[in-house]
Amino acid sequence: MTSSGTVMVIIGTRPEAIKLAPLVLALRALELPTRVCLTGQHPEMAAEALDPFGIAADANLALMRPGQSLSELTERAVGALALLLARERPAWVVVQGDTTSALAGAIAARQAGIPVAHVEAGLRSFDLSQPYPEEINRTLIARLATLHFAPTPGARVNLRAEGVPDAAIAVTGNTVVDALHRTLRDLPPAVPADRRLILATLHRRENREAAFPEIIGALAAIAARGDVEVLLPRHPGCPPGIYAPLEACPAARLVPPMPYPAFVAALAAAHLVVTDSGGVQEEASALGVPTLVVRALTERPEVVEAGTALVVDTARGGILAAVTRLLDDDEAHRRMANASTRIGDGKAAERIARRLHDELHAARRPAA
Ligand code: UDP
Repeated sequence: MTSSGTVMVIIGTRPEAIKLAPLVLALRALELPTRVCLTGQHPEMAAEALDPFGIAADANLALMRPGQSLSELTERAVGALALLLARERPAWVVVQGDTTSALAGAIAARQAGIPVAHVEAGLRSFDLSQPYPEEINRTLIARLATLHFAPTPGARVNLRAEGVPDAAIAVTGNTVVDALHRTLRDLPPAVPADRRLILATLHRRENREAAFPEIIGALAAIAARGDVEVLLPRHPGCPPGIYAPLEACPAARLVPPMPYPAFVAALAAAHLVVTDSGGVQEEASALGVPTLVVRALTERPEVVEAGTALVVDTARGGILAAVTRLLDDDEAHRRMANASTRIGDGKAAERIARRLHDELHAARRPAA
């Protein structure tokens, strides 16, 4: 199959869109022909997240069906992406992170003989059941990728331990910091708020049954203090009923998924964050916003090492105690509120684009 010389960037969900947008812009700045394909895993949110970066998708596979299982999505995504790749014949396929779309993209590319670049490679919880299915997806993608763009030295260590050769790994920083810096630059000045803001996001699949009522219960109790506002943008992947106890609280605001610039503005203004999100832990660390991770573990140890995040698990009492401490003990809050560059320095996309550019040009050069 003769390659068309393009780079095909495959995006399934909102976080992939946010984290790959800076790379699409960096590839285009180097004049590498770059195509963006949405799988439709997040039917609207991925395209909406690309919009503030001025990026429109070139293809949308619209793969989501009501009640579709992960296996059905994987099967349909591999099939549809295989057809797209056969038609477009890219020189490289780029996937990001740990979604079903990223795994399907890596499988389809590899089966078509197209090299795969994996952005945000090497994150590990070392537990295939959490986060689920993300840990499964990213470990499988590591077996398929040709180039592994590790965000941190720790991610590189994980890949080396799995036998990935050093020459196939580049430590670049996480592109989420590039997206964050770019977005902050264009934000209007913040308006001071009356009450301290607690920003919360929740969506992890493995948290939904047992842990969500605990976390939501803790947030409802915190909102009842009267001196804070709890802002929680819903995640469309979660059944709406799970947020119900918060709906009755006047000091809690449940809102639809926020556009990325509005979310970044809220994050920058927040006194603290309660989240089970991966990307939000990273962004909060880069901004120095104290973060309570409501999960049993994090595959992003850098945010804990940086001192910006604490893993508090999902029990109501533990969350309540940790939030209360950060609200009532200024010194405890101050100790966590230091912006860190461990996650990235804002130049990750440039490094990845440059490496792909060099790979493409090396492949075109005639053999001596
Ligand atoms: N985000 C957003 N609007 C929201 C909530 C989150 O733009 O209402 C962004 C957030 O800034 C981060 C990403 O979405 O970059 C995180 O996505 P999510 O928590 O869904 O996924 P994860 O990072 O856990 O994979």
